[in-house]
Amino acid sequence: MIKEIITYPNKLLRTKSKDVEKFDAELHTLLDDMFETMIVKDGVGLAAIQVSVPLNVLIICLPDDNNVQSHENALEAINPKIISKEGVITFTEGCLSVPEVHEEIKRSQSVVVEYFDRDGQKHTIEAEEFMAVVWQHEIDHLLGQLFIEKLSVLKRKKFEKEWKKKLKEEKNKK
Ligand SMILES: [Zn+2]
Repeated sequence: MIKEIITYPNKLLRTKSKDVEKFDAELHTLLDDMFETMIVKDGVGLAAIQVSVPLNVLIICLPDDNNVQSHENALEAINPKIISKEGVITFTEGCLSVPEVHEEIKRSQSVVVEYFDRDGQKHTIEAEEFMAVVWQHEIDHLLGQLFIEKLSVLKRKKFEKEWKKKLKEEKNKK
């Protein structure tokens, strides 16, 4: 089922999500719904809080060489934790909860993440560059943080101004 993705400044996006305790059918439905929603919205990652579920659950699915995002290639991460990070990388990021905004953000160049899959099996994965950026972006969501919070004061002010204008325009359209 396709879920509604909440957008900034919805306060729910500031929620610190809780760990999953049961790896049951309910969790599997959530993961399947999140995948479906992410594909429809053209995203490469999605955190559960973006569909209003405050659980430490995220999915990542980068397009393959044929530009296809298949469910088999999707990474499903439950209770993920970054256990180490290294280096610095600057990447232009976007977010389904802040549509149409793209900003350069500085993050770690590589990360090691510990997480559980949908069956409760523990995994450790090392990610670099774009994949590392996506992991950090999605894990930030679980901590209640958005990428726009990493902007400089000046850029953040510019964003807030433009965002307010956009929201107003959308409101007037209705
Ligand atoms: Zn995001």
